Amino acid sequence: MATNRTFTMLKPDAVEKGHIGAILEKITASGFRIVAMKLTQMTAADAKEFYAIHKERPFFGELVEYMTRGPIVAAVLEKDNAVEDFRTLIGATNPADAAEGTIRKLYAASIGENAVHGSDSDENAAIESAFHFAGREMF
Ligand code: UDP
Ligand code: MG
Repeated sequence: MATNRTFTMLKPDAVEKGHIGAILEKITASGFRIVAMKLTQMTAADAKEFYAIHKERPFFGELVEYMTRGPIVAAVLEKDNAVEDFRTLIGATNPADAAEGTIRKLYAASIGENAVHGSDSDENAAIESAFHFAGREMF
């Protein structure tokens, strides 16, 4: 299904390693327009809510620790077929399985510290964008 917007986070490992510029360049060079963007840091409560779907998983505690340990870049991206095309651009959750040239293949260290988030559906893209940019006119 065609869609226009997705939501991304450049995660703490990507920011710590100085990859903000390179990753944003790859995103915009791939045809995504940045609709909203901010450098921010999630609290534990934020991360628990954002990843609530994973709360019973064994990695949940580590995921919350990781996502809150430093700044992230949160952004809303626009492109035809944005959700699916962005998931293709970032590659598989585990960088060991990610295709050559994908953001996770290039910049992720492990399945846990995998550099970037991408929404998995139009519905979640809208929920996640509102979570990070609530109150903005566009949402
Ligand atoms: N994650 C992890 N261990 C796993 C699976 C996932 O630490 O075995 C982390 C990883 O940071 C991942 C996030 O939890 O990006 C959300 O998992 P999901 O399965 O939704 O992967 P994604 O949609 O990010 O590819
Ligand atoms: Mg996911």
